[in-house]
Amino acid sequence: MDSKKYDLIVVGTGFASSFFLKKYLEKCKENVKVLVLERGRLYSHMDRLASLRGKSPSYQSDLESHENAVINKNPSKPWVFDVNFGGSSNCWWACTPRLMPNDFQVNSLYGKGQDWPISYNEIESYYCEAEDIMGISGPDVTPFPKSKKYPLPSHILSTVDKKMQAKYGQNWISQPTGRASAAFGKRNACCSSYTCSVCPVDAKFTIENGLKYLYEDPRVELVYGKQVIKLETENNIVKAVVCIATGTNDLSKTQKFEGEVVALGANAIFNAHILLNSGDSNPLTGAGICDQRGFFANMNIDMDNVGGSSALTANGYMQYDGDFRKESASCLIENHNAPMIRNEKGKWRKLARFKFVFEEIPNNDNRIKAGENLLKPVIEYGGHSSYIDAGKKRVVAKMNEIFSPLPVEEIFVDDYYQDTEFHVLSSVRMGTSKENSVVDKSMIHHQFRNLFVLGGSAFPSVSASNPSLTISALSLKSANENF
Ligand SMILES: Cc1cc2nc3c(=O)[nH]c(=O)nc-3n(C[C@H](O)[C@H](O)[C@H](O)COP(=O)(O)OP(=O)(O)OC[C@H]3O[C@@H](n4cnc5c(N)ncnc54)[C@H](O)[C@@H]3O)c2cc1C
Ligand code: SF4
Repeated sequence: MDSKKYDLIVVGTGFASSFFLKKYLEKCKENVKVLVLERGRLYSHMDRLASLRGKSPSYQSDLESHENAVINKNPSKPWVFDVNFGGSSNCWWACTPRLMPNDFQVNSLYGKGQDWPISYNEIESYYCEAEDIMGISGPDVTPFPKSKKYPLPSHILSTVDKKMQAKYGQNWISQPTGRASAAFGKRNACCSSYTCSVCPVDAKFTIENGLKYLYEDPRVELVYGKQVIKLETENNIVKAVVCIATGTNDLSKTQKFEGEVVALGANAIFNAHILLNSGDSNPLTGAGICDQRGFFANMNIDMDNVGGSSALTANGYMQYDGDFRKESASCLIENHNAPMIRNEKGKWRKLARFKFVFEEIPNNDNRIKAGENLLKPVIEYGGHSSYIDAGKKRVVAKMNEIFSPLPVEEIFVDDYYQDTEFHVLSSVRMGTSKENSVVDKSMIHHQFRNLFVLGGSAFPSVSASNPSLTISALSLKSANENF
């Protein structure tokens, strides 16, 4: 076995790791040694585009798939992520609403789930910083308090949004997004093509187009193709990170790297699995894995729906917060500017498509487990909560009222949920003590005090808002407060 010593070892290169690394490098000395272990490789934006055009790179067949990386006991619930440089920033859609202040206090206010150990005010400046780094486009007026303007102007609302905003004001806003409204850094302006999993013009923020330079810093050594399996600990201190060459399964050929401090940013499935493999005995480690749930409604309207300048044009907050959260889940509405037409002559654009995304309360019976195979986490997921179903019932009952500003002809509500919202959350939750959580408010493990567990795994409760801006802000906060 090799043995080397680093000041910091970072696992993964997604949002959680990269924003942490950015702040760490800003604050630490010139001569520190940082090792980054990434299980995948650089699968570049150019290669992803070429692959879509049928010209796959030579290494395509070696790429790991998210299905093969886990043992999913409930395949009706897919868990989707990208295990390559930049993680799921490669395929995300770059919707970046903030959480609302009350999302941090769901138990105190509504008796549901767990409060966060931090308040909105404690994270606000880090939201601003993350938005500046990602070049977020967004409006001046938002339902959440904001101390700084978005760095890019908001996307243009569609004709439908304008009618909704006329009634709902700050509760119907141009969606805050990492899909650039104007050229920003290496990125082009978004042209509303609605294929954001691989953006043809590189308009959305990715780690590759925004933060790859961090990994070229002389203090940083990035090693690809290393799957971290476990941590070696002694007297409640993490001493070393143990990994194996990705794609091999000969456990006699592991490699060990020693570090003063370790930061896991491997996502909510793998963070939990690495901890479980390392002898973390907190019964909450791995417990609570969840996603939000969402459904679509399409509608025929007696007006042309045109003009929005991005894939999703707006967020609606009318069903987001209120005393109803004591009984039923909060809902964030998205206006999907999908390239659809209505199949009736003269009415091609007289339609609209909205998505309704619901918050979730983590359930400890939904778990990541360590099975016999050290390399693959087992995911046991029984389903979403009845709280979400109650939220859907509430919103469906109010559908006509919600869309009363529009000349609605007919509404078609999906009677099923989308199988994924693509958000993997809450398996290593943060809280005030090891009795109610695994990590503290700085995302430091309660037991292993030189170990940061970053990312959405730490979310104590799951609001209806997309999580990655919050994941990034939490990483900036954590590194800023501890180095
Ligand atoms: C199709 C899609 C659309 C999405 N759209 C949005 C959106 O619009 N808005 C939003 O907020 N979120 C969105 N998300 C979710 C978002 O991508 C995730 O919340 C975010 O990527 C999580 O960041 P992370 O850094 O914690 O984890 P990841 O992005 O999953 O990164 C984890 C990193 O760790 C590496 N890794 C994993 N295991 C190991 C290991 N054992 N050893 C070494 N390295 C390891 C991975 O290769 C990767 O580099 C979307 C996701 C998908 C899939
Ligand atoms: S809508 Fe089109 S241009 Fe805009 S980010 Fe998505 S894929 Fe890129």
